[in-house]
Amino acid sequence: MTKKTGIAILGSTGSIGTQALEVLSMYPDSFELEVITAGKNADLLIEQALKFKPNTVVITDENQYIKVKQALSQEDIHIYAGSEALCQVVESTLVDVVLTALVGYAGLKPTIHAILAGKNIALANKETLVVAGELITKLAKEKGVNIYPVDSEHSAIFQCLVGEFHNKIEKIYLTASGGPFRGLRTDQLKNVSREQALKHPNWSMGAKITIDSATLMNKGLEVIEAKWLFNLSASQIDVIVHPQSIIHSLVQFEDGSMKAQMGLPDMKLPIQYALTYPNRLHTNYPRFNFMDYPQLTFEKPDRDSFKNLDLAYKAMDKQGTVACTLNAANEVAVDAFLNDRISFLEIAQLNEDVMNANKNILTPELEDFIAADALAREKANDLLR
Ligand code: NAD
Ligand code: MG
Repeated sequence: MTKKTGIAILGSTGSIGTQALEVLSMYPDSFELEVITAGKNADLLIEQALKFKPNTVVITDENQYIKVKQALSQEDIHIYAGSEALCQVVESTLVDVVLTALVGYAGLKPTIHAILAGKNIALANKETLVVAGELITKLAKEKGVNIYPVDSEHSAIFQCLVGEFHNKIEKIYLTASGGPFRGLRTDQLKNVSREQALKHPNWSMGAKITIDSATLMNKGLEVIEAKWLFNLSASQIDVIVHPQSIIHSLVQFEDGSMKAQMGLPDMKLPIQYALTYPNRLHTNYPRFNFMDYPQLTFEKPDRDSFKNLDLAYKAMDKQGTVACTLNAANEVAVDAFLNDRISFLEIAQLNEDVMNANKNILTPELEDFIAADALAREKANDLLR
């Protein structure tokens, strides 16, 4: 029998994390769940630990350590608290692959530790590549570590490239659903509510990425993510709105041939492929029926009304720490929007103001990214006052 793959899931209580646990439970002979972690949701973390019996759990919120410890006192499970613990548990010899399913900048440090420890990465946490793509891809190369994309568009590109890794990519098209406000112009976006923004037409996801999808920041972050994953320049990456979310993205090769990957929208598929590449395991998920989708449609993204997409392209052009600054501003802006402190259109405005105000450090080291993130948060919070 071949050895089972030891898995650590950072952010097991989230949308990606819980779907990853569903995937693992379907293939008990292939995977061993070793580590699960949560930010604040101690109750669900405890429930998951009792059900899946991992070797180790981490609750990042230190105030909840006692609660988790007591609830699992009868179990043979190591329990840690705090964000530094994430960096240590990924280094365990039991772990082969780290699925980064936590949200935001918090993914950066544990991912670096995992790469330095030689663990392959199943990357859902796109912010890590947005913040420090150059550093992460360089480290992964040095350590011989693979980064398997979980994001559905990037998984699609990756699947299109299997058997083609020696062929040059002319360009890629990342598809975008357009989110809940597709078709609305700036004046119609002024008064849209948090509840409307949280209703994504095709995917059920965590709050931050759902708002990012409504503002098109998510596609902006994905453009930067694609640049680093597939070693592309900005001019090789295009975005096309495809409201049905059936074609998950496309690659165009030098001979003009295009390959697309398609299927019903279900994140369990890209999660699973990132963990089983190059193999595909049988699933009972519903199959696509052409007659349910007689029309697949495409349109240009509205970059005037949804300014975040252009901000991401600008950040990519400028290089250095600008994308890190943009990401941090956006994390503050989305949080402020979710707490009714700013309006929908003010998200992109705040992002742009912080990006223009803060200094760009070219050829940054890790400390520069950490400083740029902190300064951007400070500036964004100043502007919010
Ligand atoms: P989510 O909010 O549903 O879950 C986030 C998880 O991370 C939770 O377990 C939470 O407890 C934990 N967490 C949050 N903040 C943390 C912190 N500061 N420190 C430690 N742990 C923390 O988010 P999600 O929708 O599952 O998204 C996770 C990542 O995957 C994001 O980067 C997102 O962009 C990406 N992604 C998600 C989807 C999707 O369908 N949900 C699709 C593509 C990419
Ligand atoms: Mg995506």
